[in-house]
Amino acid sequence: MNIERVAVIGAGVMGSGIAAQVANAGIAVYLLDLPAQEGSNRNAIAEAAIAKLLTTEPPPLMLSENVGLIHPGNNEDDLFRLAEVDWVIEAVVENPAVKRDLYRKLDKVCRPGTLISSNTSSLPLHVLTQELPDSFKRRFLITHFFNPPRYMRLLELVTSSDLAPEALDRIRVFADQKLGKGCVLCHDTPGFIANRIGTFWIQTAIREAIALNLSVEQSDAVMTLFGIPKTGVFGLLDLVGLDLMPHILKSFLQTLPAEDKLRDIAAIPSLMTDMIEQGYTGRKGKGGFYRLK
Ligand code: NAD
Repeated sequence: MNIERVAVIGAGVMGSGIAAQVANAGIAVYLLDLPAQEGSNRNAIAEAAIAKLLTTEPPPLMLSENVGLIHPGNNEDDLFRLAEVDWVIEAVVENPAVKRDLYRKLDKVCRPGTLISSNTSSLPLHVLTQELPDSFKRRFLITHFFNPPRYMRLLELVTSSDLAPEALDRIRVFADQKLGKGCVLCHDTPGFIANRIGTFWIQTAIREAIALNLSVEQSDAVMTLFGIPKTGVFGLLDLVGLDLMPHILKSFLQTLPAEDKLRDIAAIPSLMTDMIEQGYTGRKGKGGFYRLK
């Protein structure tokens, strides 16, 4: 069964970016967030997210000719629409209780063949499916997109032995052929692969820059010329949002076994805490390690 209609729940940084990438591939997508608490337009959060996609510069996340393929909504009035879709991608806040509550509703409203996945960056799959029925476990996996989805080719996939065998194939074919992703299968470990390794080099980069009195430009020049990411470590933190790191690290620490050596380096540096407190959260805030132009 092909994937012809998609829904994304959570119209934040990731959900809206994922919805844009799906629409850019010519696929219709519902983008649902919470109903707005102020004003009469209950879809205001998702609508504002779509408007932002068109104006993000650089890089544009949304091709304007495909914007009509994204349909904004809210998860109270429009949940019934998910009965029409083939794949629901959950991209709400990184809170297992909030995610599980949503999954219970999705399991009731979605058709049996509909795939459901989470974009969690750190929560293990077995935590997300705790106390959920078998009908849910058969259709659920983690599809971990990276920011910004349009430009990051990696898609981490985490599955369980409960997943229906054809479900993984359907996601892989769609992700490869329609979204141009390179899929990597990961074990159900806290942080999967990229965040385990990424946490190590981000933390090390900050500590070494402070210890050696390096400028962020020097550090990132070394990393980019060394061939790691295009932005360097500090540029990447500005792009992703500095305020995301405490959340990732907190839930990461909660899930790491006591003997896991990553625990020793997973504490957030105080420099970063100070910056977040002062609103220097990166490109979405007052700037971050780099000034805004
Ligand atoms: P965000 O805070 O930008 O957006 C979350 C959105 O979810 C908000 O708009 C919020 O209103 C909405 N929301 C909260 N509860 C909801 C509910 N019950 N129903 C519908 N919408 C709800 O967060 P984000 O950075 O986009 O992260 C979303 C998910 O993606 C998290 O699980 C995060 O760990 C993961 N992730 C984030 C990044 C990143 O770089 N930001 C990268 C990969 C994965």
